[in-house]
Amino acid sequence: MKRLKKYLTPVIMLIVFEAIAVTLWLTKNNIFYLFNFSYIGISLALGTFLFIRKYSHARRVVQLLVGLYMLIYLGLICRENMQIEGFWYYLFTGVFEAATIHYAVAKIFGPLLFGRGWCGYACWTAMVLDFLPYKTPEKPRKKIGWIRYITFAASLVFVSALFLAGVGGLERIMFLAFIIGNAAYYGVGIILAFALKDNRAFCKYICPVTVFLKPMSYFAMIRVKCDKDKCISCGKCRKVCPMDVDVTDNSRKRENGTECILCMECVRNCPRKAL
Ligand code: SF4
Ligand code: SF4
Ligand code: SF4
Repeated sequence: MKRLKKYLTPVIMLIVFEAIAVTLWLTKNNIFYLFNFSYIGISLALGTFLFIRKYSHARRVVQLLVGLYMLIYLGLICRENMQIEGFWYYLFTGVFEAATIHYAVAKIFGPLLFGRGWCGYACWTAMVLDFLPYKTPEKPRKKIGWIRYITFAASLVFVSALFLAGVGGLERIMFLAFIIGNAAYYGVGIILAFALKDNRAFCKYICPVTVFLKPMSYFAMIRVKCDKDKCISCGKCRKVCPMDVDVTDNSRKRENGTECILCMECVRNCPRKAL
C-alpha cells in the first residue's frame, strides 16, 4: 500500500485534467477539449510518474510531449495563436476558446495550484532553450526584469491597434504573428542564453507571460519547501537552480520565489534530502 501511495500525485493530476477535459467537452459541446486536456493530463502524469521512478529525463519528456503538441499541432496545423497576442485577440473578440482557455488554465488560475509548472514542463520556447549549454546560470542575475513589462505592453498595443484600425483578415494576421513571434522568441532567447551564459535569460528578463505568471504563482499551493532540521546550508540547491531561487527560505517572499519553475533540480541535488 505504501509503495502505491507514492504514485498518488500523478493519479490526482490525471483526475484534475480529466475533470477539466470532460467539463469543457460537455459545456462547450466540443470533443476537442476532451482530447486536448486528456492528452496534456496524461503527459504530465507520465512525467510525474517517471520522476518518482527517478528517471533523470522525466521533465524533458513532458516538455517535448506537451511543447511539440502545442507548437506543431495547435499552433501550426490548427492555426491557433496560443501566444499572448492570441490571448488578447480571443479576449477582444469575446470568445472563450483556444488561447483564452489555455491562458486561464495554464497561466492565470492554474498557477494558484501549480505555480510556474507551465514554464518547467510545457512551454515550447523553454523546450528549445533548455537544450542549450547553460543549464545553470554562470553569471549573477541582472536587474533588467522590467523589460518584460515593455514586451507585455507591446503585445497588448499591437492587438488593440489591429482592432481599433478595423483591419480585416485578422485570423490570417494572428497566424502570421504566431510564426513571426515564435521565431523572434527563439532567436532572442538563444542569443541571450549565449550572451549571458544562462539558458533561462529570456524567461527572466523578456517573456511577457511572466506578468501573469509571477503574481499568481506567489500564492501557489505546490511549492518546494526546505526541512530546516536536515539542511546543512551547503548552498548546492541555489547553485543548481536555473532561476536563482533561494529555496531554503520557506516564506512566500523568498528571493526570486515567483521564478520557481518546479524543475526539481534542487530536490535531486540536495545531499541531505532536505527539500
Ligand atoms: S517564462 Fe515565458 S518563455 Fe520562459 S518558460 Fe515561462 S512562458 Fe515560457
Ligand atoms: S542543498 Fe539541501 S542541505 Fe544544501 S543548502 Fe540546499 S536544502 Fe540545505
Ligand atoms: S531548482 Fe528548485 S527552486 Fe530552482 S526552479 Fe527548480 S524547483 Fe524551483
